[in-house]
Amino acid sequence: MILFKRSEDLAVWLAGQRQEDRSVGFVPTMGALHPGHISLIDMSKKTSLSTVCSIFVNPTQFNDPKDFQKYPITLENDILLLERAGTDVLFLPGAGDLYPTGISGLERYDLGYLETVLDGHYRPGHFQGVCQVMRRLLDRVRPRHLFMGRKDYQQCMVVKRLLTLMGSDTILHPCPTLREAGGLAMSSRNMRLSAEQREQAKAIFQTLLFLKENCRPGELGDLTQQAVSRLQERGFRIDYVEIADADTLEKVTRWDGNQPLVALIAAFLGEVRLIDNMSLTPEN
Ligand code: AMP
Repeated sequence: MILFKRSEDLAVWLAGQRQEDRSVGFVPTMGALHPGHISLIDMSKKTSLSTVCSIFVNPTQFNDPKDFQKYPITLENDILLLERAGTDVLFLPGAGDLYPTGISGLERYDLGYLETVLDGHYRPGHFQGVCQVMRRLLDRVRPRHLFMGRKDYQQCMVVKRLLTLMGSDTILHPCPTLREAGGLAMSSRNMRLSAEQREQAKAIFQTLLFLKENCRPGELGDLTQQAVSRLQERGFRIDYVEIADADTLEKVTRWDGNQPLVALIAAFLGEVRLIDNMSLTPEN
């Protein structure tokens, strides 16, 4: 695996790939890697001839400064995992490379209602930050294929919109969520949970299953409220439990039995905010 810290050096390598007509797959991350991230590398290796992973803890997407300060960093282990997975390049840019003029007064993206619902509502500025960093990474890597986790369902939709706004021909591949044995979605933030909280956290997956098993055509308000109560009883502070249209993320309060649905949850255990989601109807 080659490690590039500077965009200029990465650009030289990428030019070589283009000359040899080698398709590049890209997996952007914030590090503290786990098998969920590695599954994206595996997908990229199946689809592309070369795979680039980036690790950059992007300051502009943290609406909570404490979350940024406490974001886990495990670079040595990350390098080991990526090498073992057969990653071709690790791009490790510094903040000065991606944001040469600093992080204030940056450009804004028209994300429409996507920025007003769910995490858009509860994490003001978060998706602007995601777009700011993704724009810079995509401009540098110019991948044929981009691999991102469905675990961050709304983020996938935001990045899809960004690609459209950029007029990019990069193909976005939303990939399945990898889970721990008890169903907890793997996440770098799980490292901040105590052993007891990890047990408690399984309730998120169980609640998503509960929603899937009990979702019937008609009013959905009662079902959602039951899900909220289950989580509250298990010690969660809830940002949202919502059933939404899987294609638009618009809230669905009454289901016609045909509309594609996704259930999404964001909830805190102590200081740690966890998100997860599940399709309630067959995925297309
Ligand atoms: P992050 O480092 O948290 O920014 O995540 C980097 C990429 O990995 C994003 O596209 C995430 O959606 C994806 N990802 C995070 N957790 C998982 C998981 N459990 N399964 C699959 N993909 C994941």
